[in-house]
Amino acid sequence: MANTPWQQRIRRAEQLAEQHPFTAEILGFYLHVGGFQQKLSQQLQSVSISAPAGQTPDLLSDQPEFPELLNSFPQFLSLVEEKAPVRFAQTARQVHNSAAADWFELLNHCWSANERPPAAPRDFLAFAFLQPYAEFVRSRVPLHLEGYTHSLCPFCNRKPVLGILRQQGDGGRRSLLCGFCLAEWEFRRIVCPACGEENNAKLPVYTAESFPHIRVECCDVCHTYIKSIDLTKNGLAVPLVDELASLPLDLWAQEHGYEKLHPNLFGM
Ligand SMILES: [Zn+2]
Ligand SMILES: [Zn+2]
Repeated sequence: MANTPWQQRIRRAEQLAEQHPFTAEILGFYLHVGGFQQKLSQQLQSVSISAPAGQTPDLLSDQPEFPELLNSFPQFLSLVEEKAPVRFAQTARQVHNSAAADWFELLNHCWSANERPPAAPRDFLAFAFLQPYAEFVRSRVPLHLEGYTHSLCPFCNRKPVLGILRQQGDGGRRSLLCGFCLAEWEFRRIVCPACGEENNAKLPVYTAESFPHIRVECCDVCHTYIKSIDLTKNGLAVPLVDELASLPLDLWAQEHGYEKLHPNLFGM
């Protein structure tokens, strides 16, 4: 049985790679990244933490466990060099060959640059590497979500990477998920999370036969989109992984002039 969230994600990636052969390359890479993230996450849990929980560091160096974190970065870069699609592999090699001070700068930039989603391949490396750490730090801070109605992550202020629909009464309620610290918070269903548009007619939703449980929720006012994973249609879905696997929906949306609210781990 898949127990930890990491094991569930890895198991789901294996299933989806079999179901959708065109995703095999990206999900194959995800299996390696997920395995690494799982190990890093376990390491962080086991490190004894002298600083009191409940503080959110502005910079990574504020956290005493940072030496362990930085020490595992070269290992992550090696993994990407070996297993990633060529675009990321080349970038990982370049970063690996640069000075440790540059790594620190890259990671710190990613940590604190919450206003602009990652854009260059090196930003995604940092984002994927720091993700388990962000999740770890967030898990030590109580989030007060009651009455929270914003579309930005209540912990790290980033834009959400996906939506999740869960059964509630006769319908589904939507929540948004942060792709960095993995905070999840409720958000009204018929509102554009980018510009706040509430007119149903301007918020078209598209689905495709190959992914009946994934909705491409677009906005014709600000021309952004976000994918929502409908767990009422498929209870086996693991939102983070199903989002990655439904790459053709991103290609479709982007061909039709919509820009994603926040790219996923692999820059889509
Ligand atoms: Zn967040
Ligand atoms: Zn909008």
